[in-house]
Amino acid sequence: MADCLFCRVVAGEIPADVVADSERILAFRDINPQAPVHVLVIPKQHHPDVGTLAANDPATLADLHATASRVAAAEGVDASGWRLVFNTGVGAGQSVFHVHGHVLGGRPLSWPPG
Ligand code: 5GP
Ligand code: ZN
Repeated sequence: MADCLFCRVVAGEIPADVVADSERILAFRDINPQAPVHVLVIPKQHHPDVGTLAANDPATLADLHATASRVAAAEGVDASGWRLVFNTGVGAGQSVFHVHGHVLGGRPLSWPPG
């Protein structure tokens, strides 16, 4: 999708600090980090949200989640704890409608998240 921010990141039209890159998945640092570790993990193909991805391409969702786990380990937060968040819908804070998991860690993460 030409007008999608994260499709443009995948296409290399918008620079990103990439931490993992595979056939189906790209992971890059969030431009406005909310924690010492804040990485966005996305499918290279456009899907608007995690529900759509789960329904249409569950193998890629599994790949995304496995990549998130590897990123957490590579960033050194697998022992201290980390969170994978999919904001889904405007009311939950989704602002980019190309599905992305937020890998968050490196500080205590409160629960409930608020
Ligand atoms: P959402 O609010 O949709 O769950 O998350 C979107 C995330 O994308 C936000 O955390 C925001 O900081 C991040 N973001 C927005 N534009 C860019 C960008 O151009 N590059 C990067 N790396 N992150 C971005
Ligand atoms: Zn897209």
